[in-house]
Amino acid sequence: MSSTNYKMVFLGETAVGKSSLVIRFVKGEFSPTQEPTVGAAFLAKKITIKNINYKLQIWDTAGQERYHSLAPMYYRGAHVAFVVYDITSPDTFENSKKWIKELKKLGDPNVHIVLVGNKIDLVQERMLKKEFCKSYADKNGLAFFETSAKTSENVDQLFLTTTELFSKT
Ligand code: GDP
Ligand code: MG
Repeated sequence: MSSTNYKMVFLGETAVGKSSLVIRFVKGEFSPTQEPTVGAAFLAKKITIKNINYKLQIWDTAGQERYHSLAPMYYRGAHVAFVVYDITSPDTFENSKKWIKELKKLGDPNVHIVLVGNKIDLVQERMLKKEFCKSYADKNGLAFFETSAKTSENVDQLFLTTTELFSKT
């Protein structure tokens, strides 16, 4: 059976949970001691939505500044760019704005940008209101999700909804 290749990239500050989201979706696992990503990691997963087969090619990048110059290699040609922040850390939200500006300037003009607030299981530690971040996403024409790689809340939806939504355009 044929399938459509679909390239996705994860960007955002270190420790916001990029690798954890990818591993949760691809392997159904979560590690509280997830190892930091060196350079970038690649994972693939086949999914079927409404009888259409997709082969998701997921690039998980390292957030560290010293790897920043490598990022364009991964977001170039991507259909979807997930820019992840941690809802307990306003700094990571500010950092995500930088990634969004860079993607708009240097990314593929057709790239769909998805802003992702992760770690929503940390209810007591939340520092960023959902409405505040969503309104930033709306103003900038981005899709918006909140997720928890730990509990898996909204993780499948993140991948499946964006694949279905954006594969048509
Ligand atoms: P990355 O640097 O963005 O790839 O972040 P990692 O996936 O390596 O995660 C950094 C740390 O945050 C690890 O200790 C993870 O276990 C933890 N983490 C990731 N996602 C979540 C989440 O949704 N909730 C909680 N509580 N911790 C998370
Ligand atoms: Mg990582």
